Amino acid sequence: MTPNLAPLLEIKNLRIRFKRYGAEPAEAVKGINLTMMPGESIAVVGESGSGKSATALALARLLPEPPALITADQMSVVGHDVLNLSERQLRRMRGRDIAYIFQEPTTSLNPVLTVRTQLAEALTLHRPDVKDQDAEIISWLCQVGIAEPEKRLRAYPHELSGGMQQRVMIAMALCCRPQLLIADEPTTALDVTIQKQIMELLAELRRSLGMSLILITHNLGIIQNVADRVLVMFRGEIVEQGPVHEILTSPKHPYTQALLACVPRMGTKQHRLRTIDYSQLESTAPRL
Ligand code: ADP
Ligand code: MG
Repeated sequence: MTPNLAPLLEIKNLRIRFKRYGAEPAEAVKGINLTMMPGESIAVVGESGSGKSATALALARLLPEPPALITADQMSVVGHDVLNLSERQLRRMRGRDIAYIFQEPTTSLNPVLTVRTQLAEALTLHRPDVKDQDAEIISWLCQVGIAEPEKRLRAYPHELSGGMQQRVMIAMALCCRPQLLIADEPTTALDVTIQKQIMELLAELRRSLGMSLILITHNLGIIQNVADRVLVMFRGEIVEQGPVHEILTSPKHPYTQALLACVPRMGTKQHRLRTIDYSQLESTAPRL
């Protein structure tokens, strides 16, 4: 096998438990398997608490251990055997090989630093080869669709709208040219029009940069143009997976069907989310 055909992620039997006082550890992820090729884009969908974020954070050992206990038969991430790396090796890997953006840009952006300083810090740490940091930062701000980037360099996070802040976060994640970007509910805090713009931006960037993307969301309505493949998580397990059009048009698992029924459609009067009937789910769910 030639090196560039090696999987970007190869995960076998990943289990994540959380220690609890006076009780058995809670099992958040129950032995999942995942292989991802370079350049692939996958969406991980599932309701709140199904183990999506725990899985994503475990890939770069970002969960606090303890209380987390992570085990796997194999856990190879962007060429690293992450369960056996030192803290120093993990720090080098984070940001450089694998970058994250989260739901709330304000939790990741430092409120007392300008846009320029925050991006410059990322560049200094991971791309010391870059000579002209301002030119590099301006070029990334342009790529994420920020108008008047020279002016925005001097802005503090609170001077930017939520959508703008998320664009800055994306620029900060991508300026280190990671092979894998993990976007965990990147648009959940934004209103619908901005959500759509940010998803379009992610789709465009991952194509132009040839980067791999894991998009985590509870909303099946936003993944269509961004992901090639979908994994559906339910209570710590992958209950269904397949190409995005197949999952959206003919979901097999009742939980996926229920998730799809929750996607609000433009122009309809259905404003309330449908309630999922778990008792029915558990009796009919096929085990994969
Ligand atoms: P999702 O991202 O799908 O909403 P999470 O991966 O955040 O779900 O959580 C999965 C399960 O793991 C939940 O039951 C949650 O309470 C538990 N969990 C997540 N992080 C921690 C933690 N740091 N300590 C204890 N339990 C946690
Ligand atoms: Mg989450």
